[in-house]
Amino acid sequence: MNAALPEEIFSFCPRCGQHTFAPRRPGLLVCSSCALHFHVNAAAAVAAVIFNRHGQLLLLERLHEPARGLLDLPGGFVDHMETAEEALRREVMEETGLTLARVAFLCSFPNRYDYRGIRYHTLDLFFTCTPQEGSVPHPADETAAVTWRALDTLRPAELAFESVRRVITFLNA
Ligand SMILES: [Zn+2]
Repeated sequence: MNAALPEEIFSFCPRCGQHTFAPRRPGLLVCSSCALHFHVNAAAAVAAVIFNRHGQLLLLERLHEPARGLLDLPGGFVDHMETAEEALRREVMEETGLTLARVAFLCSFPNRYDYRGIRYHTLDLFFTCTPQEGSVPHPADETAAVTWRALDTLRPAELAFESVRRVITFLNA
């Protein structure tokens, strides 16, 4: 089943209630009755690139949809009024128990994230991260398994999202 864009499922204006709410362009809905402009912006998300001393990359097997069972980097959505670095440290702690010592911005790729029938657009921000000395990852609440993989063993079909495939290609270049 294809997920629908928010622009495709909203047709009644949430302010005036008229059946006059329509997309003007991707990411913008406008009501022709009361002139409400409503933006559906890309959500910011963060992900951690963490290598061990053998040059293997830390990956998580996703426990939940979307992309259940596929491999993903630790990370998640940035909350309102949170910095990307704060979101990164929070999500990595929640998902792996790792405390990050250093984080440095690496690159960004756009992504599509289908959840309960809705397609969200995200901008995924990737950071190279160094865990605190002696900090060992273990699967936490949202994770099925923690695994270390050499980049050249990863097949695109194993990876959860297009943005993760693109960052693996970026790291291999
Ligand atoms: Zn309206």
